[in-house]
Amino acid sequence: MKPVIALVGRPNVGKSTLFNQLTRSRDALVADLPGLTRDRQYGTGRVGGFGYMLVDTGGLSGEAETLDTLMARQTRQAIQEADLVLFLVDGRDGLTAADEAIATELRGFGKPVLLVLNKTDGVDPDAAAAEFHALGLGNPLPIAAAHGRGIAGLMQTVKGHLPHLEDPEDEEKERWPGIRIAFVGRPNAGKSTLVNRILGEERLLASDIPGTTRDSVYVPFERDGQVYTLIDTAGVRRRARVKETVEKFSVVKTLQAVEAAHVVIFLLDARQGVAEQDAHLLGMVLEAGRALVVAVNKWDGLTPEARDRVRADVALKLPFLDFAEYRFISALHGTGVGDLFGAVQRAHEAAAVKVSTGELTRLLERAVSEHQPPLVRGRRIKLRYAHQGGRNPPVFVIHGNQTERLPGSYKRYLSNFFRQQLQLVGTPIRMEFRTGE
Ligand code: GDP
Ligand code: GDP
Repeated sequence: MKPVIALVGRPNVGKSTLFNQLTRSRDALVADLPGLTRDRQYGTGRVGGFGYMLVDTGGLSGEAETLDTLMARQTRQAIQEADLVLFLVDGRDGLTAADEAIATELRGFGKPVLLVLNKTDGVDPDAAAAEFHALGLGNPLPIAAAHGRGIAGLMQTVKGHLPHLEDPEDEEKERWPGIRIAFVGRPNAGKSTLVNRILGEERLLASDIPGTTRDSVYVPFERDGQVYTLIDTAGVRRRARVKETVEKFSVVKTLQAVEAAHVVIFLLDARQGVAEQDAHLLGMVLEAGRALVVAVNKWDGLTPEARDRVRADVALKLPFLDFAEYRFISALHGTGVGDLFGAVQRAHEAAAVKVSTGELTRLLERAVSEHQPPLVRGRRIKLRYAHQGGRNPPVFVIHGNQTERLPGSYKRYLSNFFRQQLQLVGTPIRMEFRTGE
């Protein structure tokens, strides 16, 4: 599981600037999914071969109030779920009463805290750091987030403070066999009903694999000769009869499961329709680049009119999901549950596709001959060749000149063209554009 780092600090100390620095790589990728909302509060980054999750809490003011008003509930939950807290202070403002209040609050959580002194550009870092020793959180680590200074050193220190980083992320995940599946959906969508039904029917492989206990978050099982590993960070298996409250729902845990998975089975509740939280969670799944199968659950006992309403609702509110397979199921009765696995296999295969440079370049040439890129300042943008830059999800890299001037609509045209020609159902794809040679 990726460890979780929470960014804490009063407003304006530079949390979101640091967040963007640490998660920036994602913005270089163009997802072909108009309408997708991006979450700027949760992100992922890498240090060395190690991946981590980052949460920008944003919610501590440090003003002298009660704990409840001082912290948004989400902020407190994020700190509780974090493996490490980065507490940002401002080297220009110096130590404030609000910083002291936050330091006191943080002590109550008993989490490891690193004190990070931001905005050290244009000030003497040692002099600025001196007064912050009074917080009792050790030596402040100086950075200038806006200028990218000190970030690498900070992250080396961070790495030393994170638990369970024995294996680089990829090796850790690869220990688990088969196709790794995460079940995601908002509370009451039917996740635990579905998971318990599936695991009730299948042969658990738990005893074969070291480190698997009843409480493990990784649950290998076999179905029709294919091995899968279920990723259960939210404890859905143990909750069969207990109602999860909305309060206990954890975005962090959901994201950890998504990050560890190959394929996400996303549950929508047909009785409730599509809610904002669905779009929000789906945005995270797709930003993580995960293959996806949509299970519309509680399909039992719905009238034909109600079913039409659900289909229309989905098409209207989740247009960016048109690449995924939909399955209409009843976790309660088991109807349609078996069909999920064919869709999971197809999505996994599509996400792991390998396409040669020759084939991609031929596709690019066809796409361009059917629909030319636009003229920019009298010159036609030239696209020369394409190669595959990654898998899970597939990344297609297009080389040419002036590619930075390609309009979004043309990028989406190319992305759709590749998707259709390569028949990539169930996986997001990413396009990168490079100019030169
Ligand atoms: P947040 O409210 O804690 O998320 O703070 P922001 O990231 O929005 O930053 C608040 C302001 O501080 C913005 O105007 C940033 O440009 C500025 N800022 C952030 N980091 C630095 C830095 O390293 N040096 C300087 N001089 N300004 C910074
Ligand atoms: P979770 O919070 O996503 O894990 O949802 P649960 O599995 O706890 O299910 C929430 C409620 O929906 C429970 O009362 C279930 O019995 C009910 N439920 C789950 N799946 C179905 C289904 O396919 N049909 C119907 N009618 N109810 C379901």
